[in-house]
Amino acid sequence: MSEQDKKIETFSEPTKIIQPSAEFRAKARVKSLAEYQALYTESLESPESFWKRETQDLVFRKPWTRLLDWQCPFAKWFIGAELNATESCLDRHLNTKTRDKQALIWESEPGEVTSLTYAELHAKVVEFAAALKQAGIQKGDRVAIYMGMVPEVVVGILACARIGAPHTVVFGGFAAESLRDRINDCGAKAVLTQDGSWRKGKVVPLKATVDEALRGTSTVEKVFVYNRLGAAECPIQMQAGRDVDWYDAVGAADRKLGEQPEIVDSEHPLFILYTSGSTGKPKGVMHTTAGYLAGTYLTSKYVFDLQPEDVYWCTADVGWVTGHSYIVYGPLANGATCLLYEGAPNAPDWGRFWQIIEKHKVNILYTAPTAIRAFMRQGSEWPAKSDLSSLRLLGTVGEPINPEAWLWYYREIGRNRCPVVDTWWQTETGAIMLTTLPGAHVMKPGSAGLPFFGVKPECVDSAGKAVGANEGGLLVLRKPWPSMLRTVWGDDERFRQQYWSDVPGSYFTGDGAHSDPDGYFTVVGRIDDVLNVSGHRIGTAEIESVLVAHPAVAEAAAVGRPDDLTGQALVAFVTLKAGLTPNETMERELADHVAKDIGKFARPASIRFADGLPKTRSGKIMRRLLKDIAAGRETSGDTSTLEDQGVLTKLRED
Ligand code: ATP
Ligand code: MG
Repeated sequence: MSEQDKKIETFSEPTKIIQPSAEFRAKARVKSLAEYQALYTESLESPESFWKRETQDLVFRKPWTRLLDWQCPFAKWFIGAELNATESCLDRHLNTKTRDKQALIWESEPGEVTSLTYAELHAKVVEFAAALKQAGIQKGDRVAIYMGMVPEVVVGILACARIGAPHTVVFGGFAAESLRDRINDCGAKAVLTQDGSWRKGKVVPLKATVDEALRGTSTVEKVFVYNRLGAAECPIQMQAGRDVDWYDAVGAADRKLGEQPEIVDSEHPLFILYTSGSTGKPKGVMHTTAGYLAGTYLTSKYVFDLQPEDVYWCTADVGWVTGHSYIVYGPLANGATCLLYEGAPNAPDWGRFWQIIEKHKVNILYTAPTAIRAFMRQGSEWPAKSDLSSLRLLGTVGEPINPEAWLWYYREIGRNRCPVVDTWWQTETGAIMLTTLPGAHVMKPGSAGLPFFGVKPECVDSAGKAVGANEGGLLVLRKPWPSMLRTVWGDDERFRQQYWSDVPGSYFTGDGAHSDPDGYFTVVGRIDDVLNVSGHRIGTAEIESVLVAHPAVAEAAAVGRPDDLTGQALVAFVTLKAGLTPNETMERELADHVAKDIGKFARPASIRFADGLPKTRSGKIMRRLLKDIAAGRETSGDTSTLEDQGVLTKLRED
């Protein structure tokens, strides 16, 4: 049997089951499993009628004539349709009462609050779209966006969409070199930026980084600079002929240029977004207009169960796909009120998020396991200080969430009242693929849940054959879906190789998973990270979950190092809860704890304590770097998406 053919095993106890409250269920959009099943079946068996009905509130200037053209791996959805995504996100609300509802509430790190109604946001998008056009940016031109979390970044994104110019948002934490690579990869003609932004009380000089990045680019003609901080806080240099002040450009442009949106084909590129780079060099994932809009609109509506009065807060940065789909396109297409926060979760202290929730009466919170574990590490006394009674739904995304962190989130933040949706998806999928629907499904902490409408996931072996219930395998998607990536920008071959060659005819996610007899999917980590210890193949998430369940542990990463005897020896990197110091007794105790919960074979050969783990800038643990360290190798591959190079240096020294 080859290595790949061996099954991934599971050893953990079956998960606990938690029911949504009767109160939540009564008001939910989908109220029962049966109702979900009927819709799900329809979405697979009669996709035409399903998508026709479910997208009827979106604005199509010309309807589609055929739902799908599928020439694997190339898909076209909503064939023949013409639209502009911003008409669904903005214009359609102007004739309804949503017009005067807040679209965005913004809180800066120092604490200023401003808001924009749908009518105001629309006006800002129209005028900035006009400024872009006036500067010669046209349909099809790429525009890079390198900004902080300010209302103007949402305006910039939507203004690009309004003129049909695909945007590529680059997270504002990236250094000049990473920004330059992305600009060059997609050949951006313009850059939108701001002087600087606040982060943990310090100024992040964004414009200066753009200046440095542009020293190695040849395509950028215009840079629009939003003056967020002003010269006293953040002096900048403007290059004549290239750089223009955002609002000067708005003032000089003929507003009419932005009023009429550019009507594009359903398959016109909406944006390019580079993946987080957890596994290697980031890929320029390309999404197109109608399918992406339909997917983000529908998942926002059903997964977050958006109700007209909700204040919704997604804490992701707009530089990641979560920000694109669930701060901008999905919620706005639903007419929701979205909160936008500029700064760090611990500025000035670990109570900030909870104060924001209390102040703005946030109803829905969507965040990442990495943030939840960081809050856990600081202790429950922080959230206990705020009134969190406005919350009615919690969500998580980005990595597997271990049951311990799930339950802490449910208990300490949701106060045992709010359903938690653990949403599995990727930059490539555009929208949520696996989740529970909050009023319809029971929750199993640690397991993402069931497929969303139109999604057909399966766990398979390396030959592409479905494995049985509770057996681990590669997670694939058997059918194309509307919000799927269309290609890797400029590299159809990489697109085919990366996603469509492992299991012919199916989309390969790169993740390992198993599903239980109820059809709930649990993602156990990336296939490349699966451990092989004494002949057992086991997902990283399982060992990490057990470690994090120990009261002393805040965060853990499990990797394998080559071992003559066992194939791989297990090395666990552990950070402890605030105030605890590591010692040998603790090391032994943790090793015993893993051996007891999973089995003797899984007893870590070594446990290394660290102050922090290497993470991508989106907060995911980069296990491939830890693998190198565990094996005593030089770290190899792309490290540009690493958040803190210092963590790596420190780990190497220890
Ligand atoms: P790269 O593809 O460049 O290595 P990345 O995969 O981290 O980066 P993203 O698209 O941001 O880039 O992340 C998607 C991945 O995150 C998924 O493939 C999965 O591994 C993980 N993930 C996201 N949500 C969940 C979840 N709810 N449960 C488990 N894993 C998740
Ligand atoms: Mg990925």
